[in-house]
Amino acid sequence: MTIYRKRGLYNFLPPSQYHIKEKAASVSLLKNMHKVDGKKITSGTKEWADFNINLIDGCAHNCRYCYAKKMAVRFGRKTEATWGTMRIRERDVNKAYRKKKGRIMFPTSHDIVPEEPFFKACMTVLEKLLRADNSVLVTTKPHLQVVRYICEHFKKFMDKIQFRFTITSMDDTKLADWEPGAPNFQERLESLKYASQAGFKTSISIEPCLDEDPRKLVEILKPYVTESIWLGCMNYSGKYPFNSTETLKKWVQWFEKEELMRFKDSIKRRLRS
Ligand code: SF4
Repeated sequence: MTIYRKRGLYNFLPPSQYHIKEKAASVSLLKNMHKVDGKKITSGTKEWADFNINLIDGCAHNCRYCYAKKMAVRFGRKTEATWGTMRIRERDVNKAYRKKKGRIMFPTSHDIVPEEPFFKACMTVLEKLLRADNSVLVTTKPHLQVVRYICEHFKKFMDKIQFRFTITSMDDTKLADWEPGAPNFQERLESLKYASQAGFKTSISIEPCLDEDPRKLVEILKPYVTESIWLGCMNYSGKYPFNSTETLKKWVQWFEKEELMRFKDSIKRRLRS
């Protein structure tokens, strides 16, 4: 447990990094695992943003570990077999969006795919959010075509957008196994490079990390990341061999001194127990 007391404490701080101090220091991590600056530590998407916006049921990426899928199946909105079939909720596309007090994460229970009519629907909502002066964390397993479009068409909203690209491994065999409908590693890397070179804020989610040793992945991504790299482990798919407690401890040791690195609540909870 002493490992948590050492330097790199800020790496465990919760999401609110954009409105609470990202690198608060003098708190005992163990004592304050549930609170920082008097504010409750949150988990899931609330680690990153105050609001979630979605407009589609289902997701063609069809990740095996998808929490949104598990919830949809549990509550009878979808089945395992129908999750990959996307359906636009027209009401959520057509409605007006106002400025929210806090950052919006978009999307969280589906992804932005280049296929129509889903792409146009997503861009319509993104434009409404930005025109309403919202700060948007665009969270996606990125398709290059999608990222190019956003960089070109929403350039004037650049200061309101931060990309968060999910890149869970550089091994395409693992990606195809766990995230069968999502782009391969090269396309995700190209997307990151494109957004970074276009001057946008970029960050990465390596959650769930599909590798035992993500150091090489982090080294490859780092030059193109302006904000943060979030590392997390498998949450809902039972025992994942590469996410043992011993492995998580190694991750903390490897990355605690890395300025860009942040540890997701999935790791904090596992190491707390
Ligand atoms: S991309 Fe996200 S929403 Fe889509 S299936 Fe994967 S985890 Fe679920």
